[in-house]
Amino acid sequence: MKKDILSLTFQELSDEVSALGFPKYRSAQIFRWLHKSGVRSFSEMTDLPLAAREQMDYNFVIFSCAIEKKLISAYDSTVKYLFRLHDGEFVESVVMKYKYGYTICVSSQVGCRMGCSFCASTLNGVVRNLYASEILSQLYAAENDLGVRISHIVLMGMGEPLDNYDNVLRFLQLVTDEKGKQVGMRHISLSTCGIVPKIYDLMEKDLQLTLSVSLHAPNDALRSAMMPVNKKWGVAALIDACRAYTERTSRRISFEYALVKGKNDFPECARQLAVLLKGMLCHINLIPVNEVAETGCKRSTPENVKKFADILAEKGYAVTVRRELGADINAACGQLRRSAEQMQPSENPKKTEVSSEVRISN
Ligand code: SAH
Repeated sequence: MKKDILSLTFQELSDEVSALGFPKYRSAQIFRWLHKSGVRSFSEMTDLPLAAREQMDYNFVIFSCAIEKKLISAYDSTVKYLFRLHDGEFVESVVMKYKYGYTICVSSQVGCRMGCSFCASTLNGVVRNLYASEILSQLYAAENDLGVRISHIVLMGMGEPLDNYDNVLRFLQLVTDEKGKQVGMRHISLSTCGIVPKIYDLMEKDLQLTLSVSLHAPNDALRSAMMPVNKKWGVAALIDACRAYTERTSRRISFEYALVKGKNDFPECARQLAVLLKGMLCHINLIPVNEVAETGCKRSTPENVKKFADILAEKGYAVTVRRELGADINAACGQLRRSAEQMQPSENPKKTEVSSEVRISN
């Protein structure tokens, strides 16, 4: 079995390269080719002697993502990729352009087993975890295809990152390595549905990334109805973990709250949320739910979104309403899937309702 070279840290790669009898400087060369240039084969490593390239090819494989399909939004230039992995499985990634540069939303698993009632990614369960290399190669493939540098990463695609903890941490180590792609840890967001023990584990790492927590409901009855994970780790345990996390890392947590019409968008929910998060270093991101045919969830009206935001803002919270990007190509939060047949442009493209990220309060 060839080894997955893109998942090796620089130290591990150096050990492997030394074991093959190569001079020491080769490891930095190879690491650069892999992580700075994003090459897909050893034959592209032109400053390596031919015999060395062949030897590498004999021992290692470079996992890469093949572009199976690509959709570009007519509204906002958001690009959605359906990538084919080496074993024929598919994942989706989305590249968005903001004022400050490009952001990629990457997947961390093929499918998802969390079962959130409003999300498309979980409809067929999970197939497998992605290796660190496969998370990285979504970024490398998109950069090479678009010819741009992507400066920001959100782990908010398909899958639950903390359900694939070791590979995700390895990904974070690799993508921020100064000898490689060197994305700033502060430019990375990791979103979780609330795997409480892993939030504590992550806290111990004291990373400078932004932790996003998909809260979506202010009490157990509502949250368990929307997110099965809540039956295992309830709201109180989750919020305890979040408070500990912000206190230890001094990093603000971003709470995601998808507003579903007639479900969790009542003023009373906003008031409960304000009590729940009292005194915490946080930011609240409201997402008018993106409609997914199979889930039956309807998005809150703009009036209800505003009312909800206003209640939180009045209590002094920093609240934003997330701008919907890629609405015409089903590239928005919770719309990512793993099959080619379903990767169709939206049948009912709707205009973006909130035209920019609105900072309602600070
Ligand atoms: N599993 C992780 C990351 C993936 S989802 C998590 O749960 O956080 C990224 C974000 O999109 C999460 O906040 C998720 O709850 C949200 N989301 C899922 N489906 C959505 C939908 N239909 N509309 C809006 N947001 C959705």
